Amino acid sequence: MHLIPFSEVSAENGVTFLVCPALSEIKNLRHCFSTRIGGVSKPPRDSLNLGHAEQDEAGNVAENYRRILKAAFSKDAPIAFTKQIHKDFVRLADTSDCLPVEQAFTAQECDGLITDTKNIVLSGYFADCVPILLYDTAKHACGVVHAGWRGTAMAIAQKGVAAMQANFGTNLADIIAAIGPSIGPCCFLCHDDVTTAMEVFGPLVKPFIKKADDGRFSVDLKQINGTLLANCGVSEIYVCESCTCCDKRRFFSHRRQGPSRGAMTAMIELL
Ligand SMILES: [Zn+2]
Repeated sequence: MHLIPFSEVSAENGVTFLVCPALSEIKNLRHCFSTRIGGVSKPPRDSLNLGHAEQDEAGNVAENYRRILKAAFSKDAPIAFTKQIHKDFVRLADTSDCLPVEQAFTAQECDGLITDTKNIVLSGYFADCVPILLYDTAKHACGVVHAGWRGTAMAIAQKGVAAMQANFGTNLADIIAAIGPSIGPCCFLCHDDVTTAMEVFGPLVKPFIKKADDGRFSVDLKQINGTLLANCGVSEIYVCESCTCCDKRRFFSHRRQGPSRGAMTAMIELL
């Protein structure tokens, strides 16, 4: 597991996104982790709000999606969306799952999508929760997973790779996992509801749960997800250093802003 900075890319209209260097080296794959920079939404959702479930003008969110697609994917590709419910169901997506941005709220409930269909963008939305992109270098298949603390405790990361194994015959050693910007242990201070939920993993995740000075617990959800993926056999795992709560210039954060915030996306497309 490698804890690294992800590379920042800026495009037309100032649209700014991050990429995992190991995934961006792959020729027939595109991906991005969006930031809040370069969109048209007004405060407090300024400006690149891609949270279709959030309160915002639908036209603004649609324009923001057009901008991130153009910036990171060079075209107006069809998108398969999630409707995330903090559970552990991962869906197999194909072209029939793709929706216009304006209808994204009608997507089926799931917290992960996988596909081996080319030229569709898998998209999840995030504002502190952990975005995980998965790529099978041998079978040319991919996935996106939304892991908040509840999903993490339900082992959604492992369920994402297990779904790839079941549907594509993925060998876990062929997977590259990119764990994107999300709330860091610096800011994710929580009570024992979270630590109790993590006890299911035993000593494996203990190094990433520390007692804070105020009696709460500092939990590193990114490294817990990375460790769980490593434990089930994923060999190449990159974890983005950035904390969405600390870095208010680049990211929306539920912990910092509450419900009056936008959302970023993690997106991936096979070519
Ligand atoms: Zn932080």
